[in-house]
Amino acid sequence: MIALDQPGLTSGYVHFHNSTNKSAWQSVRLPIHCLNGTAGPTTLILGGMHGDEYEGPIAIDALARNVDTNALVGRLILLPALNLPAVMAGTRLTPDDGLNLNRVFPGDPLGSLTQRIAHWLSATMMPLSDHIVDLHSGGRTLNFAPSILVPEAFSYNALATGAGKAFGAPFTVLINEDHAPMSIDAVAEKLGKVIISSELGGAGMVTRHTARLATQGLVRMVAAFGHLKIKEPLPNSRYVRLPPSEDFLICNDDMIFVPSIDLGDAVQKGDILGHGQFIDRVEAKPHAFIAPYDGWLLCFGGQGLLRRGDVVAVVAQDAKQHSDMPTQKR
Ligand SMILES: [Zn+2]
Repeated sequence: MIALDQPGLTSGYVHFHNSTNKSAWQSVRLPIHCLNGTAGPTTLILGGMHGDEYEGPIAIDALARNVDTNALVGRLILLPALNLPAVMAGTRLTPDDGLNLNRVFPGDPLGSLTQRIAHWLSATMMPLSDHIVDLHSGGRTLNFAPSILVPEAFSYNALATGAGKAFGAPFTVLINEDHAPMSIDAVAEKLGKVIISSELGGAGMVTRHTARLATQGLVRMVAAFGHLKIKEPLPNSRYVRLPPSEDFLICNDDMIFVPSIDLGDAVQKGDILGHGQFIDRVEAKPHAFIAPYDGWLLCFGGQGLLRRGDVVAVVAQDAKQHSDMPTQKR
């Protein structure tokens, strides 16, 4: 572990012991950078919580190299590859224990590697941070219109919503996820820390557009948290709400999905989003997936072949009623 109070940039590793069939006394070394400027708040920035989501690690690595600590207010603690074994395997879950890091919070100090990483973060790093930024993308199986996610609990917090919008993703999304009790968001809420996450792309890819947005957007977000002064005007971001998971369009059968519109497009109730084609059945006609309400196409399945139960599409709803928000609550 590195010193977190050293002026300027300090880079190194956090060591986790691991014992597997391949390596009995393995040291898993998570890259960490700490940037200290003048007195001010601490922001913890995480990438690689899931190993097949690439925009976060790219943007955080660039931030570590590009920030001038002489111009920095406060402290940035950067973990570009939080679940390093998953990142190096290109998989969502940790290869050795099969666990999903963002479903084991607050973690367990006596548990497997994934549980111990979660516990270290919950018990050590999150309490000393004022703000937490947890950068995700859709991974191999989902594909998002680039979005910043702000938990519903922080929707009246001007700092959280301001930082979310400052990132400049096409969408700033209010979320209220039903699996949240096992996620890092629950720990942040319990500790009273502002947490912002993202879904910056997906389909197991990095594109020129998403890499550029992530890299530039993270600097704008860090500035909005008060760490840096930047002059550039902030891009627009549309404020929407993630629907409850029962409103996600789900596959009833294995099929190849052919979209009729693009990610981020505005849709009206009844519009055709795309068709599922059943290549294994000569008698089956393509199935049309219809927009259940007005909104914007936030997410498609990230793979051509979708299986029964997979998400086909998610339509986000307008959240304009929250755009002129009072700042009292939290
Ligand atoms: Zn993720």
